[in-house]
Amino acid sequence: MLDLTYTAPQPKVIHGAKGDWELVIGLEVHAQVASNAKLFSGASTRFGSEPNSNVAFVDAAMPGMLPVINEFCVAQAVRTGLGLKAAINLRSAFDRKNYFYPDLPQGYQISQLYHPIVGEGEIIVDMAPGIARRVRVERIHLEQDAGKSIHDMDPAMSFVDLNRTGVALMEIVSRPDIRGPEEAAAYVVKLRQILRYLGTCDGNMQNGNLRADVNVSVCKPGDYERFQETGDFGHLGTRCEIKNMNSMRFIQAAIDYEARRQIAILEDGGSIVQETRLYDPDKGETRSMRSKEEAHDYRYFPDPDLLPLEIEQEWVDDIAASMPELPDEKKARFVREMGLSEYDAGVLTAEVENADYFEAVASGRDGKMAANWVINELFGRLNKEGLSVATSPVSAAQLGGVIDLIADGAISGKIAKDLFEILWTEGGDPAQIVDQRGMKQVTDLGAIEAAVDQIIADNPAQVEKAKANPKLAGWFVGQVLKATGGKANPAAVNALVAQKLGL
Ligand code: ADP
Ligand code: MG
Repeated sequence: MLDLTYTAPQPKVIHGAKGDWELVIGLEVHAQVASNAKLFSGASTRFGSEPNSNVAFVDAAMPGMLPVINEFCVAQAVRTGLGLKAAINLRSAFDRKNYFYPDLPQGYQISQLYHPIVGEGEIIVDMAPGIARRVRVERIHLEQDAGKSIHDMDPAMSFVDLNRTGVALMEIVSRPDIRGPEEAAAYVVKLRQILRYLGTCDGNMQNGNLRADVNVSVCKPGDYERFQETGDFGHLGTRCEIKNMNSMRFIQAAIDYEARRQIAILEDGGSIVQETRLYDPDKGETRSMRSKEEAHDYRYFPDPDLLPLEIEQEWVDDIAASMPELPDEKKARFVREMGLSEYDAGVLTAEVENADYFEAVASGRDGKMAANWVINELFGRLNKEGLSVATSPVSAAQLGGVIDLIADGAISGKIAKDLFEILWTEGGDPAQIVDQRGMKQVTDLGAIEAAVDQIIADNPAQVEKAKANPKLAGWFVGQVLKATGGKANPAAVNALVAQKLGL
């Protein structure tokens, strides 16, 4: 593994009017399981379908319908657990969380309160090259998503779309190990990256496939350490939960606002009411949604329609055997085997598709050179044009071809950029283009010599000046490069000019 400095999460200190305060944060992330069918029915999970077209009878809570567990969703949760180095519980169970809502026809959500499928794990959160934090994951449980109420389609009526009802979610709960807004956002970034590598959640936050409930409290310096020593939450402040955050930027802004709001109340002699709050991105503030007192009593109880979920260790082992290389391992390998900087390796492994593209380019070639071309030329251009490696006009094979031509000395770095441009706009085979368009670097000394002789013969006055002041030899080098269309090998031109001028 990489030689990272793991520090404990670092408390962000806010200087209040009456002293210093520290932040304590715990995240509950809802990740939609990547699966074509729902958790307890065969209905499709396709996004953007006609409203109420992906609804099985059991999703609509028709009388007498029974849920049937989708084995693939369970496998996805196990795979996620293994990816977070977590304990897998061979026995878990489903509970009913009872509440009324128009988009919840069952009148309860099936979840796992008492016996989740995944136990304690961890996420290594990258803060900067060489600096990472270890954040513990407390549990992952499987549960159903609810439907969607639509209030803005008609002035007098609300509508309900049940397409989402019963879609499988993984709720990934962190310990209150996160100590600042940047760490919270970096935690979600890393979690999303791992889920995408695993293929267990597409991580699309705009579509709501990954959303975070952010718990925030503040305490005085020293309190957190006392909490860690004793495990007594009484040392921590009362927390508020900000629901349904789906942007890294808003997560940070909401935490910062919320912490300052709590500090102001506490310094004013007030106390924090535990409540659920919503973040308003337009106003940049959080506001109360419901307090704990008015919170529902969910009357959890084991779902009598579902047997406890028992899985075999062998089945878990099979899933473990098919795990992909994960981001931390891939990044470490790129540093170790290809000599890349941790920063570059981090950029290249951010998305698994990017890493695959890079590996195809680097295979059998110089890793650093490949990294430079992929990061600076390719990613730079893709970003500018809003494309991704999947839609890149230049394939890994083509880019590899460009690098081969540079490595062979067939083209200079400058010509290679022109070649990249041609490949980007017109496509084609790099070696063939170089041949057909006469882009080859002239390393043939005879040809360069002829060009040098010509320029010297044509410019006797310049020759005299250069002989008196050798610094002016650069002018001849420039003329030769120009005359050869930038294709002459600059080192050879330099040497020849100096020699011919007798410098
Ligand atoms: P609940 O069952 O009410 O949702 P949990 O114990 O499951 O409560 O905790 C929910 C989340 O809140 C977890 O991520 C946990 O780490 C976090 N959390 C608990 N106490 C605090 C606190 N004092 N400050 C910040 N986060 C907290
Ligand atoms: Mg909770």
